[in-house]
Amino acid sequence: MLKGEPTGKVVVKPEREDAVKRRHPWLFSGSVAKIEGKVQPGDVVDVVSQNGTWLARGFVNPQSEVPVRIATWEPDERLNEEWLWNRLQQAWEKRKQLGIVDETDAFRLVYAESDFLPGIIVDCYAEFVVVQIYTPAMERWRETLADFLTELIRPKGVFERSDFDTRLREKLVPRVGPIRGDAPPERILITEHGLKFLVDVWRGHKTGFYLDQRENRVRSEHYLKGERVLNAFSYTGSFAVYALRAGAKQVINLDTSSEALRLAEENAAINGFAGSVQSMEENAFQLLRQFRDAGEQFDAIVLDPPRFAPTKATVPNALRGYKDINLLAMKLLKPGGFLVTFSCSGMVSAEMFQQVLFEAALDAKREVLILERLTQSRDHPILTTFPESEYLKGFVCWVW
Ligand code: SAH
Repeated sequence: MLKGEPTGKVVVKPEREDAVKRRHPWLFSGSVAKIEGKVQPGDVVDVVSQNGTWLARGFVNPQSEVPVRIATWEPDERLNEEWLWNRLQQAWEKRKQLGIVDETDAFRLVYAESDFLPGIIVDCYAEFVVVQIYTPAMERWRETLADFLTELIRPKGVFERSDFDTRLREKLVPRVGPIRGDAPPERILITEHGLKFLVDVWRGHKTGFYLDQRENRVRSEHYLKGERVLNAFSYTGSFAVYALRAGAKQVINLDTSSEALRLAEENAAINGFAGSVQSMEENAFQLLRQFRDAGEQFDAIVLDPPRFAPTKATVPNALRGYKDINLLAMKLLKPGGFLVTFSCSGMVSAEMFQQVLFEAALDAKREVLILERLTQSRDHPILTTFPESEYLKGFVCWVW
């Protein structure tokens, strides 16, 4: 039984106090004046000001770049089992209230800080639940979390995909495998907005599927119904299936991953579009150039590259990368064609990304109108006190 009693105090530097009071949930190492008490990674700690005033309570990991993740600003709230259960239940109620469970059986149930559960991500895929645990505190709660999810969702199984980079930065070893119930099959069949997709939760990206793009897929459908559509950085071809349903005649899925493309073909086939997709296992930077040189033309293009800017230092390079592919895509579009373009770099703001599109349009000598601004799906809500929870930006552009 985890009681969650604080074992120590973390004293905040005076100049950083305001950030805590303004409810930013991360305390960076540069903000910590000292840690009092014998704290172990994963312990509960109180966050206090230099003069000892209580400010917040959270979980500590002295080995992390973020030594404290704050979970509550209520002095009476204990970070115990009851807290975990309540938070999970609230997260579940919120998804139900939003109607997400009526649109899909694959969605994010817990989005870490945005659900006031730092260190935990929980994604549901049909009858299975996939968890990502990435702090020593939540590592201690692993068994309880699995029990609670079993009780709350009644899935066939709870599966762990704790193998991503945030976890390594917390000095935890990767772990993948079933925790409760049945092990998931190699491919789980999900239904999203009436379309079917196969998801590999064992080896796929993230926990298997880009759930954050779900609402953008349905919103961009309208723009993707032209004769010939290019789905660049396709992964398992989710945008292609939506495009085909909308009426596109032919869609090219372009990705460097052969496994992703194979699954993309199956995803098209199970929705009845086997004959209309083509796979190209190529580097997008090169293939877009080849298409340009060959004078290829498309009615619509989706650009959904991986995160180009993982850190602040990589932003300038990332912007060059975004400009490059967007410029090429603009050139490849017929007049009046649609470009649905994304950046999932948290470090690149929507303003910066729009600036990139502006520069690309000038260089491509095309007139570009922004029709829609897109963001991550509502099951990945952006916490206003935590701008870092926003990472996905997209634009639907009309290219003339
Ligand atoms: N749009 C997809 C998610 C794309 S994730 C969806 O909604 O499901 C980014 C994809 O880009 C990954 O599948 C990765 O394999 C691919 N990728 C990374 N670098 C690439 C490159 N240089 N050229 C083509 N594909 C690339």
